[in-house]
Amino acid sequence: LGSRQFQPEDTVIELPHTNIGGDNFTMMAGPCSVESEDHVRRMAKVAKAGGATVLRGGAFKPRTSPYSFQGLGEAGLKYLREAADESDMDVITEVMDVPHVDMVGQYTDIFQIGARNMQNFSLLKAVGKTNIAVGLKRGMSATLDDLLNAAEYIASEGNHNIFLIERGIRTFDNKYTRNTFDLAAIPVLRQLTHYPVIADPSHAVGEWDLVTPMANAAVAAGAQGEIVEIHDDPAHALSDGPQALKPKTYLEMTREVFALRKTM
Ligand code: PEP
Ligand code: MN
Repeated sequence: LGSRQFQPEDTVIELPHTNIGGDNFTMMAGPCSVESEDHVRRMAKVAKAGGATVLRGGAFKPRTSPYSFQGLGEAGLKYLREAADESDMDVITEVMDVPHVDMVGQYTDIFQIGARNMQNFSLLKAVGKTNIAVGLKRGMSATLDDLLNAAEYIASEGNHNIFLIERGIRTFDNKYTRNTFDLAAIPVLRQLTHYPVIADPSHAVGEWDLVTPMANAAVAAGAQGEIVEIHDDPAHALSDGPQALKPKTYLEMTREVFALRKTM
């Protein structure tokens, strides 16, 4: 269902405040985690000022350690929704478990399926039974065929509002970057599938000062949008502080990215 042979023309996902795919270029930004009502509201305003139309923020966090901050849960979803509405933005947030799909779906415009859940087939089928858009992240050790097959699990249940997110993979050298940004995945996926392809330079590199160059590279490679993490006080962020762009850097990054995109 996801192949170009099956559907030659690009999928365009229509949301209240944004279209994803086709000739559209969509900026998605926000904190890694929803930290408080006030914080996510302020970050929404920053995200919007940089041209983002989708607000990101995790309320259920897939942390490597069970002792790390796990997210605010449903309260976080409420704060995220209110912040997005106030800034006329759409919402993307991660759903981690099948029993949460209905509840998370009441707050979000887009389900994010995280890298660690890319092959959680029951979760893929559960979001596939909804009509809410799905942003599917590439698993950290997933091949592109694995990713496309994961998308097929969603589409085969009836939900075709899917986009793919390249967020970096594990390789033999992740000493200086959190993951290895597989830039070539972007044009390859665009050849193979009609689904929109979005880049996540934040998780791909894991260091804030590498995000802008990789965001620009993703545009040049043909990404149809970006999803980036921002924070006004990265040193005290509850998750992923080292990769968060401060507001000023974020605004510079989006200026560069949109300018580059215009030349294409
Ligand atoms: C996130 O978006 O904060 C996240 C946990 O991403 P990933 O699943 O790509 O690690
Ligand atoms: Mn994160």
